[in-house]
Amino acid sequence: MDEDIWYIFKGDELLLYSASRPRLPHSSEVAPLASSSVRSGKLSMGCREAFWAEVPSDLPIPSKMVPMGLREVGALLGEETFAEAGRAFQIMNWYRRAFFCVSCGAPLRDSSDDHARECTSCGSIFYPPISPAVIVAVERDGKILLARNVRFPPGRYSVIAGFVEPGESLEETVRREVREEVSLEIRDLQYFGSQSWPFPHSLMVGFTAHWASGEIQVDGKEIEDAGWFAPDEMPDLPQGVSISRKLIEHFRSAHAPHEG
Ligand SMILES: [Zn+2]
Repeated sequence: MDEDIWYIFKGDELLLYSASRPRLPHSSEVAPLASSSVRSGKLSMGCREAFWAEVPSDLPIPSKMVPMGLREVGALLGEETFAEAGRAFQIMNWYRRAFFCVSCGAPLRDSSDDHARECTSCGSIFYPPISPAVIVAVERDGKILLARNVRFPPGRYSVIAGFVEPGESLEETVRREVREEVSLEIRDLQYFGSQSWPFPHSLMVGFTAHWASGEIQVDGKEIEDAGWFAPDEMPDLPQGVSISRKLIEHFRSAHAPHEG
């Protein structure tokens, strides 16, 4: 059986064991840290034992540990570890906040359900929140629609995304977001895949689609620029293990020039 692993958070960063290549630490390597945690718990994940813990933000980091953001963890240790670390983060982050009932204000206690908290007074049960969002790669004549969100770093473009609103189907959200952000209508909407996105608790649901009508007109609020990009003229793209990057790479590989 595999050794157990620990996801130890200091603030929003994960503490990795700094071997020649940083990796997730085992029990024997985190004993002093785990004992000074403010909160901790067990994660059910596959066949190996996994635990999460949060240590005080002012705790000195032991010399053999190195702090790392979740995106960097994904870039360094791959998609599977990114997903597990994201799960650990969301649960840790939930226990950080779930102290009082939003219905009656009484304190919460752990419920017998996994990762649920229940009200000590009115009995309401609360679970870690998950916010569904859609993300879509729209294609027109061999080019992909990429847009610049006002919050992106300079030069960065990506596919259109947005949160699901109450009462909407995922398909309706995709059509509304594309309409609102760039004034286009789409057709041939197809499911692509999904990804948990722990910033702080999204579930990204990916689609592909084709342009149907309209010309790009950005909303000027969320989106400051957008355009159609050929596979060989890409701007700066999201890095790492994101589904946005996967959608763009899927488009590029489907339109790669034939070699030879
Ligand atoms: Zn209550």
